[in-house]
Amino acid sequence: MIIENYSLKKLNTFGLDVKAAYFIDVKSLEYLEEQFELIRKKQFKYLVLGSGSNILFTKDYDGLVIKNSVQGIEIINETEKEIFIKTGGGVIWDNLVSFCIKNNYWGIENLSLIPGTAGAAPVQNIGAYGVELKDVFYSLDGIYLTDGKRKTFSKEESQFGYRSSIFKKELRNKFLITNVILRLSKLPAPKLNYRALREKFGSQEIKKISLSEIRSIVIEIRNGKLPNPAELGNAGSFYKNPVISNNVLKDLQKNFQDIVYFKIGDKYSKISAGWLIEKCGLKGFRDGYVGTYPKQALIIVNYGNATGKEIFEFSRMIQLKVKDKFGILLEPEVNIL
Ligand SMILES: Cc1cc2nc3c(=O)[nH]c(=O)nc-3n(C[C@H](O)[C@H](O)[C@H](O)COP(=O)(O)OP(=O)(O)OC[C@H]3O[C@@H](n4cnc5c(N)ncnc54)[C@H](O)[C@@H]3O)c2cc1C
Repeated sequence: MIIENYSLKKLNTFGLDVKAAYFIDVKSLEYLEEQFELIRKKQFKYLVLGSGSNILFTKDYDGLVIKNSVQGIEIINETEKEIFIKTGGGVIWDNLVSFCIKNNYWGIENLSLIPGTAGAAPVQNIGAYGVELKDVFYSLDGIYLTDGKRKTFSKEESQFGYRSSIFKKELRNKFLITNVILRLSKLPAPKLNYRALREKFGSQEIKKISLSEIRSIVIEIRNGKLPNPAELGNAGSFYKNPVISNNVLKDLQKNFQDIVYFKIGDKYSKISAGWLIEKCGLKGFRDGYVGTYPKQALIIVNYGNATGKEIFEFSRMIQLKVKDKFGILLEPEVNIL
């Protein structure tokens, strides 16, 4: 059923009081297909919504918001070493992680506590602590909102990159992901290359580290540095870490020796966007109800009554200051509408 003038306040983690002109909650692909003719006739503009944890609404949405609530976690195939799990796009990502940990399936434990739905996870190829969704992705199913046709996407077709995929680019709001299939390991496969994780485990023998220990440590680290959206509105990292050539990095290092970066291959490096913002004196900076989080400059927070427009303007101010000081244009990771 399509509802008019629907409040999205509880459906975006910035906690913004915005409305959708039209709203539909989709619990199954069959239901969406049933409604499809009506939706198409009305020629709405679409927005597919999960939990709204990677979206900044700068105003009311004047089209149809399609909320993905497709549920279900099922095992579709397994071998001695591997297991293939199919999850509904509306399943809360962290519930899926918790399910896998309870059943001893390895692969997504480093991605514990990332807010949002499983259907949105491939959109920006979620990542944390040295693991990205693409590392365990097998395929996904969905429906084109343009003509109602179903399609399965393989890993290759999904064109995953750093916080990016075909679903965040060409297919943004044109394709609704109904379910995702992950390929996980039944044999222990801890990924502890990320420094913060390695340090937490100290000299503990890697072979003896359990899935639930990794999950607990990841949760502890995240809770220590990221604001809980239920208490302080935010959408996680607001910008991507910029990727620059090593020549540009060398030039920057002449003036900023302590620049924080990670080498990617021989030619490029990823610069810490949080460091760039901090160096502009903006860590913990606040203007009215908007500010950067005091423990992590990369996160923009809503201290209560900020509007989406104010948050957007604040984000532009950060971009301009960083561009002026370093010549680097920060690219938002958050979807701005
Ligand atoms: C506190 C906090 C911490 C975070 N930490 C991380 C982190 O460590 N790593 C990380 O990668 N991200 C992180 N994020 C960002 C966010 O959690 C992820 O991007 C998440 O995948 C968004 O899921 P969602 O369901 O809320 O998507 P939404 O915000 O609802 O949507 C995000 C985008 O995906 C599209 N979309 C959503 N569902 C579908 C679907 N079923 N089919 C097609 N398109 C769809 C939307 O149209 C939109 O463009 C964090 C966010 C917060 C608030």
